[in-house]
Amino acid sequence: MKLFRIRGGVHPDDRKQLSAEHPIENLPLPPLLHIPLQQHIGAQATPVVTRGQLVRKGELLARSQGIISAPVHAPTSGRIMGIGGYPAHHASGLSVRTLTLKPDGHDEWHDSCVGAAAPFSLSPEEISTRVADAGIVGMGGAGFPSSVKLNLRHRYALHTLVINGAECEPYLTCDDRLMQERPDDVRDGVMLMARALGVRRVLFAIENNKPAALAAMRESAKAQADLQIVGLPTRYPMGSANHLVQTLVGKETPARGLTADIGVVVHNAATAAAVNDAIRHGRPLISRIVTVTGRAIRRPRNLHVLIGTPMDYLVEYCGGFLEEPVRLISGGPMMGQPLPSTRVPVVKGSNGLLALSASEVNDGAEMPCIRCGICVRVCPCGLVPLSMVATIRAGRLESSVRLGLLDCIGCGSCAYACPSHIPLVQHFNYAKGELAAQQRAQHKQGEIKRLIEARTARMEAIKRAKQEAMRRRKAEMDGKKAENADRRAETAEASR
Ligand code: SF4
Ligand code: SF4
Repeated sequence: MKLFRIRGGVHPDDRKQLSAEHPIENLPLPPLLHIPLQQHIGAQATPVVTRGQLVRKGELLARSQGIISAPVHAPTSGRIMGIGGYPAHHASGLSVRTLTLKPDGHDEWHDSCVGAAAPFSLSPEEISTRVADAGIVGMGGAGFPSSVKLNLRHRYALHTLVINGAECEPYLTCDDRLMQERPDDVRDGVMLMARALGVRRVLFAIENNKPAALAAMRESAKAQADLQIVGLPTRYPMGSANHLVQTLVGKETPARGLTADIGVVVHNAATAAAVNDAIRHGRPLISRIVTVTGRAIRRPRNLHVLIGTPMDYLVEYCGGFLEEPVRLISGGPMMGQPLPSTRVPVVKGSNGLLALSASEVNDGAEMPCIRCGICVRVCPCGLVPLSMVATIRAGRLESSVRLGLLDCIGCGSCAYACPSHIPLVQHFNYAKGELAAQQRAQHKQGEIKRLIEARTARMEAIKRAKQEAMRRRKAEMDGKKAENADRRAETAEASR
């Protein structure tokens, strides 16, 4: 198949060999599970269970709120110990609303977990409803509710489903192992999503540095004429949705638009397996595969883990730390989230836990920009990172927006390649956060202004109504006074 060239990109040392050869292992039940109510983009789920309640595996714990939201289910059977704050799966480590479940060890399924007898005879609506009810979100780390993407058929003229099996981030091997070990489950999930979207063309893209996964998926796809497995050149960030689509179909996604604007929807390979589990077996999204790796980990592994398992339990299973990690990251080293500690739970989007040793972190002292232009050459979005960072440092955020800040996908290629060790992507992420905060503040100010104006208008209306009432009363009283005066005059006239 003809592939189209995309601009930029880098070739970081992928260090996948640390975990790639280890088959997926099931992590034993932890003593406690901490299940956040917000593991997705959109509105937080609302609990439907109470403290002390016994629940079974797969039972609904929290209901989704609104269209962009996802429900949360019990990863195993046990007792709800509480609903309260627990450190977020986020760099801030701030406390978020979390359900704590104590497993009872029986791992007993709830009666509601029943699969469809004939999955491929379900209608597109039935498939997307089941995907929504199962709480499936993008498992590549984005956490966007998958059913919302499946429903894009109502608004866009779609023709192609692209499955992202690129796994281009260094270190991560969870999707690689999944495609090698469960190719038929991944394939069936893909074909169910294609049915839901109403598309006939499915391109399943895998980077060429995963030959075993490519071979397994090619073998599995032999029975499916509509499914084409495509080997991609290994280059970061090949797995970025827009660039993946451009490589495969040769069309650019409009700036700040969706791939659906050009008729394409992208889903992750692990999401496809979750869709198959939900529809064929009636299992909601209660577990996932996590790569635990980095040179600070004694035994790097790919683990099948229940959602809500504390990260320190994964580290313990992998033999603990060989040395104190200098950096902990959830996800890959390029776009992952730094973690404040391992005292955070695994969530639906956790594809990796990296514990990096000093030898793996290229944190040279920052030096002045030498205007070498490398950052411009590697940027896959055609931006000029050195100019953007200069405007951000000068506090001119508006100028950085004019230079394309909002088109930056935060891939980190520029920072990785910069010989002066300038933390370019960190500046861009900071600036995007500032802009979002400014927009929120502006929105809040606008809302306050609107409320003040509405109150003033209300008070004016009340004042006018009172004045009108007083005027009417005065007019009535004047009328009565005049009547009385007339009557008095008539009486006086009569008595004379
Ligand atoms: S790569 Fe670094 S040193 Fe080179 S131009 Fe860009 S910011 Fe400057
Ligand atoms: S982080 Fe942004 S500016 Fe830097 S290479 Fe990636 S897209 Fe370009």
